[in-house]
Amino acid sequence: MNKGYVRILGIRIDKLTNQGAYNKFLTFFDEKGTKTIYTPNTEIVMKAQEDEELKEVLENGDMIIPDGIGLIYASKIYGLGLSERVTGIDMMEKMLDYCNKTGKSIFILGGKPGVAETAMMNIQSQYSNILSAGTMDGFFSEDEELKVVDKINESKCDILFVALGAPKQEKWIAKYQKVLTASVAIGVGGCVDVWSGNAKRAPQVFIKLGLEWFYRLLTDPRRIFRMMAIPKFIVKVLITRNKG
Ligand code: UDP
Repeated sequence: MNKGYVRILGIRIDKLTNQGAYNKFLTFFDEKGTKTIYTPNTEIVMKAQEDEELKEVLENGDMIIPDGIGLIYASKIYGLGLSERVTGIDMMEKMLDYCNKTGKSIFILGGKPGVAETAMMNIQSQYSNILSAGTMDGFFSEDEELKVVDKINESKCDILFVALGAPKQEKWIAKYQKVLTASVAIGVGGCVDVWSGNAKRAPQVFIKLGLEWFYRLLTDPRRIFRMMAIPKFIVKVLITRNKG
């Protein structure tokens, strides 16, 4: 079997390393239309079990990277061969680096008012060649969505970063994929909060030990309810493995 993707609890996850994901991202500029990148973790895979729309969105994305240590463990248990975690935040960094080298422009959509602007300022102070096509907060009504799309398209951005929280951002990107004009749209969740300085990424030691989720729990205990998905995921993976 060499399909380029695996299935974890029925959800498509692409068999890509960090380098492979970056290489695939580069090919998106040679193709027509907006290419989509989604970064599911364990929690999203669990959500997609009960959310047919989300499952469909992930099925039809252009690149689905394994952003969660739980997915790597599940792959080990099933013997599927996912070799490493490819996080949204690392992917975003590589994309920013590419934009910096090539002078491409980015648009950031999402976060509370002011967050995307601050994130953009911080990005530009680190990557001086990146062009800002614009920013917009992520709190708008459904009636305003088309105006938001117009604003993004008028900005002529090359890459659109969408931070509306998962799974809202994935569904939103999929809904407008055909009318968007950016080359790439990616759901980046809390990464914009990290770039704005409102949230911190876990220290390297937590990341290396596969405990980034634990750090996020320590720093934001309200996540406990969302994180209940993790033990449920592990149980489900073990049960389905035993069923063969
Ligand atoms: N967010 C938004 N609009 C919404 C809901 C959420 O812009 O309608 C933003 C929120 O302010 C935060 C980001 O989405 O900056 C990520 O949310 P969350 O913490 O749920 O992200 P994830 O767990 O996906 O990283």
